[in-house]
Amino acid sequence: MAECIFCKIAEKKIPAQIELEDDDFVVFKDINPQAPVHYLLIPKKHMQDITELQDEKLAGRLLMGCVAAAQKLGLFTHGFRLVVNTKNHGGQTVYHLHFHILGGRHMGWPPG
Ligand code: AMP
Ligand code: ZN
Repeated sequence: MAECIFCKIAEKKIPAQIELEDDDFVVFKDINPQAPVHYLLIPKKHMQDITELQDEKLAGRLLMGCVAAAQKLGLFTHGFRLVVNTKNHGGQTVYHLHFHILGGRHMGWPPG
């Protein structure tokens, strides 16, 4: 999608601090971190949100990619949180599916 900022990151048309990448996804640092460690995993293929994720194989790869990124980021010892904000009530602001990978501090519950 021409006007999608995360498609532009996936296509390396705008810069991002990329931590991990494979054929299906890119993991990069969030520009406005909400925790000491805050990265985003996006599929390279554009989809608006998780309700458009129909491909089980891709879904598995994205989830395993989040876990691989968490390991690479050193989050296995103390743990981390995965978040997928979805549409208006979910607090989504960028409409290209992304998984937040958050760590480096204790996370409260319930979320805001
Ligand atoms: P959400 O509110 O779940 O849609 O999250 C969107 C996230 O994308 C926010 O945490 C933003 O800080 C982050 N973000 C927006 N633009 C960029 C960018 N150019 N590079 C990195 N992260 C971004
Ligand atoms: Zn996109």
